[in-house]
Amino acid sequence: MAARFEAAGYATVPFGTPCDVAVIHGCTITGKAEHSSLYAARQAKRTRADTLVILAGCPAETLGETLRGDTTVDLTIGQAGKFAIPELLHRLYPHRFPAPATSEDTVSTPRFDTQRALIKVQDGCDFHCAYCIVPTARGLPQSRPLAEVLAEVKKVTAAGFREVILTGANLGRYEDGPHRLADLVRGVESLPAVERIRLSSLEITTAEEAVIDLMSRSTKLCQFLHIPLQSGDDGILAAMGRRYNTDTFRRTVTMAVEKMPFLGLGTDIIVGFPGENDRSFENTVQLIRDLPFSNLHVFPYSRRSGTRADTLPGQVQESVKKERLHTLVEIGETKRRLFAERFVGRPVSVLIERVDTNGTGHGWTGEYLEAHVTGASLSPRQIVTMKVDEVDSRKGSGFGVQGSVTSPFPGRDLHAARAGLGRLAD
Ligand code: SF4
Repeated sequence: MAARFEAAGYATVPFGTPCDVAVIHGCTITGKAEHSSLYAARQAKRTRADTLVILAGCPAETLGETLRGDTTVDLTIGQAGKFAIPELLHRLYPHRFPAPATSEDTVSTPRFDTQRALIKVQDGCDFHCAYCIVPTARGLPQSRPLAEVLAEVKKVTAAGFREVILTGANLGRYEDGPHRLADLVRGVESLPAVERIRLSSLEITTAEEAVIDLMSRSTKLCQFLHIPLQSGDDGILAAMGRRYNTDTFRRTVTMAVEKMPFLGLGTDIIVGFPGENDRSFENTVQLIRDLPFSNLHVFPYSRRSGTRADTLPGQVQESVKKERLHTLVEIGETKRRLFAERFVGRPVSVLIERVDTNGTGHGWTGEYLEAHVTGASLSPRQIVTMKVDEVDSRKGSGFGVQGSVTSPFPGRDLHAARAGLGRLAD
């Protein structure tokens, strides 16, 4: 959105600076997130009374009508319109906001807070998990045409990005005619300027088998999968309305790890879902201990009005949720350290995010371990092969790896590192 404003001739300023238009790109995933979005809108109005305050994104979809007549939010703009705000402003207030310098169909090069380019290829979801507001906020699954995605990827690589992250609300539901997610990844992979591809979260029962197969053979697709588990108890999974049971989950992960022994594996867990008792929580603990997760994202269940789970009996006390969260966070840290230790003495591919004044580079391995690199003249977005000397186990480090550069050949490093891993694994 910021890039579209800039392409239209506007200057963007940090939040809190007096300005003509303030856009709050809000979140609605929890009641708290929605409240924070409205709080930000109020702050923007207080900064300058005649600022036009726009609430964009999911809260505009869920709160739109209820904000009619609100003195803080002047406009709500949902998912469909949020990338054409300058055009809309000119249509609504032609005397206040000039015609944009670019036409509506001009694709601006997006800006990112990271050296990796996020490409949204899909939105919406029709899975209707009991705790989730996304189907209400984002509507039915919609995918961008494959050709349009490839055009955007070409644009970001021309701007210097080497890694692209394909994202979506339910990425595995990507569909453009006969093309599914694996076809899209193959298309992106065929672009010579793309050096690394990463996938955001992938739901089991969507495209995981084709993706795992492709990932195990690809020289550009990072060997990292984030597959939300949410609970390790079949009764709770059924109450959540999830479409798999623990057996299916276990089988999929086992198949992935057989094909990719060094796979980075992330997941999301909700603790304290209504009806979760000590036994069902213990089932979750056991499944997490059994499977080779390298990243655990643990969330306490948070009631969200407008979802089925909000009215379920058996709501769990906050103190119990906190305890369970603590237990899983500790297990997650141990598993991450053990995963990082497996790489000591081995080569990994690292994309450099930033370089310190002392020349140390910081970035991410293909398996999504934070990496600290020395030994060469490094620059952001460069991809290098690093030999891992040790695990970075400083408190709060998240257990990354550190080491020194062994090869600065851009473009060949994911392949080179993987070939090295394969040899060492043998
Ligand atoms: S699959 Fe994900 S986005 Fe879709 S309803 Fe379930 S939790 Fe929400």
